[in-house]
Amino acid sequence: MAEVLVYVDHVDGAVRKPTLELLTLARRIGEPVAVALGAGAADTAAALAEHGAVKVLTHEAAEYTDYLVVPKVDALTAAVAEVSPAAVLVPSSAEGKEIAARLALRIGSGIITDAVDLEAGDEGPVATQSVFAASFSTRTRVIKGTPVITVKPNSAAVEAAPAAGTVSELAVSFGALATGTKVTARTPREATGRPELTEAAIVVSGGRGVNGAENFALIEALADSLGAAVGASRAAVDAGWYPHTNQVGQTGKSVSPQLYIASGISGAIQHRAGMQTSKTIVAINKDAEAPIFDLVDYGIVGDLFDVVPALTEEINTRKG
Ligand SMILES: Cc1cc2nc3c(=O)[nH]c(=O)nc-3n(C[C@H](O)[C@H](O)[C@H](O)COP(=O)(O)OP(=O)(O)OC[C@H]3O[C@@H](n4cnc5c(N)ncnc54)[C@H](O)[C@@H]3O)c2cc1C
Repeated sequence: MAEVLVYVDHVDGAVRKPTLELLTLARRIGEPVAVALGAGAADTAAALAEHGAVKVLTHEAAEYTDYLVVPKVDALTAAVAEVSPAAVLVPSSAEGKEIAARLALRIGSGIITDAVDLEAGDEGPVATQSVFAASFSTRTRVIKGTPVITVKPNSAAVEAAPAAGTVSELAVSFGALATGTKVTARTPREATGRPELTEAAIVVSGGRGVNGAENFALIEALADSLGAAVGASRAAVDAGWYPHTNQVGQTGKSVSPQLYIASGISGAIQHRAGMQTSKTIVAINKDAEAPIFDLVDYGIVGDLFDVVPALTEEINTRKG
């Protein structure tokens, strides 16, 4: 059976959820071979094996932390040469997409970014993408070289599928460009205790209807009752009510959670572009004609200042 390379996104050996989702998708195409790089790479093996990796190729070197993406591209290029995979899957983060694009260029392959589904095809893997502000779905196949495909978080369920997970060290030699861009400082973002927006299974977002920074506490309380991340429309972040890092949409982040709750958001096309692939969409808006209601699974016509606290209380009661 053909092998499929999966690039592992991990923090000091803790594998992040989008990588486990990639292993589910990789198993549809062939046998997953994971590539884990940097500090803690060897510690990823147990989780990767538990989710279907037949092999885990590891390489630890300071270059992966001290320099931007090129060392990782060098390593993936070496892995492609060693494995001759049927495809290379990479999580669709900003860094993942840069790594994937550079890799595709290096190995002379076509690339598909932001896939939301993946299946085996007679002539190679077929990816589903959601395009033109999520107004269309396309099915796409790479026709040149080894397909390099980046996949959005929450595109597949994480499934346990124990496999051998045989660990071996990848031989990597860094090229001259690998140390071209050095990381000179790092400032950790203040921890909120909430999940990362682009990876969260549930996102609760607020828009102009929230009407003030102080009122975002209502959105946060609902998010916390559900273990969700907090998002915001551009109108809300431009008003300074919530950080720009939480903006969802065309010029913000793309999210694809299992559940997206929009409160006081009208549903402009640029906002929809970042959330329309969410599995279940709920909107709370006092205007029954708001365009967001065209795409929701459940719509609540009402004042968010009544509905959101009531919803939060009900969820907390049922949890309690
Ligand atoms: C190039 C470009 C890129 C853009 N990128 C983005 C992007 O990435 N993300 C993004 O979000 N936007 C983006 N925009 C802006 C976008 O066009 C909209 O202006 C924006 O999404 C509107 O935000 P909103 O829905 O919060 O505000 P509004 O459109 O003003 O809607 C507010 C909604 O709240 C409702 N409301 C008010 N009070 C209450 C209440 N008490 N209870 C319940 N409902 C209430 C109203 O009925 C209304 O529907 C972009 C625009 C451009 C031109």
